[in-house]
Amino acid sequence: MQEVTIFWFRRDLRLTDNCGFHNALLSESPVLPFFVFDTEILNTLPQNDARVTFIYKTLSEMRRELISHGSSLLALHDKPLQAFKKLLSKYKIKAVYTNHDYESYARERDKKINDYLKPQGIEFQSFKDQVIHERNEIVKDDGRPYVVYTPFSRKWLTRYQEEENRSFPSEQFLENCLKTATPLPFPSLEEMGFVQSSVKVPDRDVSPKLIQAYEATRNFPAKDRTSRLGPHLRFGTVSVRKMVSKASNEENNTFLKELVWREFFMQILWHFPHTEHSSFKPRYDRIQWRNDEQDFRRWCEGTTGYPLVDAGMRQLNETGFMHNRVRMLVGSFLCKHLLIDWRWGEAYFAEKLLDYEMASNVGNWQWVAGCGVDAAPYFRIFNPTTQIQKFDKDLQYIKRWVPDFQELTYPTPIVDHKFARERCLRVYKEAVG
Ligand code: FAD
Repeated sequence: MQEVTIFWFRRDLRLTDNCGFHNALLSESPVLPFFVFDTEILNTLPQNDARVTFIYKTLSEMRRELISHGSSLLALHDKPLQAFKKLLSKYKIKAVYTNHDYESYARERDKKINDYLKPQGIEFQSFKDQVIHERNEIVKDDGRPYVVYTPFSRKWLTRYQEEENRSFPSEQFLENCLKTATPLPFPSLEEMGFVQSSVKVPDRDVSPKLIQAYEATRNFPAKDRTSRLGPHLRFGTVSVRKMVSKASNEENNTFLKELVWREFFMQILWHFPHTEHSSFKPRYDRIQWRNDEQDFRRWCEGTTGYPLVDAGMRQLNETGFMHNRVRMLVGSFLCKHLLIDWRWGEAYFAEKLLDYEMASNVGNWQWVAGCGVDAAPYFRIFNPTTQIQKFDKDLQYIKRWVPDFQELTYPTPIVDHKFARERCLRVYKEAVG
């Protein structure tokens, strides 16, 4: 049996500038590209999940490219440990290479795989790929993690400018992949119990034009002038190093700072893993949420009678995307006007967003609820009507997503703003003082 190095793709679905893949390709043995359609994750998703379609399509393209180099990509539909057991029965494996994945499920999964491989003399090597700075790389001078964005971002940017901007040109070494006479097994979507989704991940735009105009246009949902990078960073179909380099080549660094927010929340989740389920500020877990299921349903389907809130929710339901400005408003509305636990909103977004990413979702939800790091004080409550004046004055966004908003059939507001505001202040004050 020929000895191989496995490269295990996860959140890094690209053949170019991929750190772990590059390292594998420069190792001694030919590389077998490998992916696991993890049943532990897939079994929790709806049949037509758009992210599964996107992953599937991306892997199919990667596989085609590898086949054109005389190699292939092996994909198994299984629990990761079972998949590795199958691999070991077919190949003589020298090492398994992969890229770091920081979420709690992933860390546990990787530990299990490492524990299985180690006694068999197979090394498990993992690399930093999905962020510029990770874990303890950007901490305060005394070694404690930052919990405020601005000083974190300052140090992040200084460090970035000081360091050599590295790239990992894996695409130049594809000849080092294992040669296969015929393509390796790759299950069909249907075999895995899925169907193609009609919701598509939109193309990204990181042109100099968009980045330069970003500060002026990013707050207006109707303009739709944000990069749509979210899903691409989530699944690694772009290299974050390339994106940061593009952003830092422009004079205006507002866009670059957004990419730093992403890493800020990732390091928060890394240092404070309890925030996956609980508030960063524990006293906020004492809030007496109303958690009215009927109100929650109306929020989910976009029938609250507040047009900008409804527009956002309908955009989310139809496309898997919602503009950031509107995410902030609908999030605040759920927690503060309806007094529904931020975790309900977080879970709904996790189900629907194409760019769902645990650290960013949890971090931003806690930010809107006022219970997270660097959050606005809880008594700052967005007014869902004056927000229209600020961000959708011509009602273009609302008309696009809620064409019925001036019709008699459009629902009356789910709750009076003034009443809801006072109720929120009272309930929050009781919990947090
Ligand atoms: P752009 O505006 O073009 O920004 C470029 C990239 O910067 C984004 O793709 C993202 O990677 C990063 N970024 C921008 N803003 C933020 C932010 N506030 N926090 C963290 N990263 C940011 N973003 C996610 O990637 N996944 C989520 O699950 C997610 N959930 C959110 C939930 C709520 C309640 C709120 C208020 C925001 C959430 N965001 C989330 C942040 C933000 O809304 C999205 O990143 C952004 O709207 C995605 O669109 P874009 O790719 O066009 O972003």
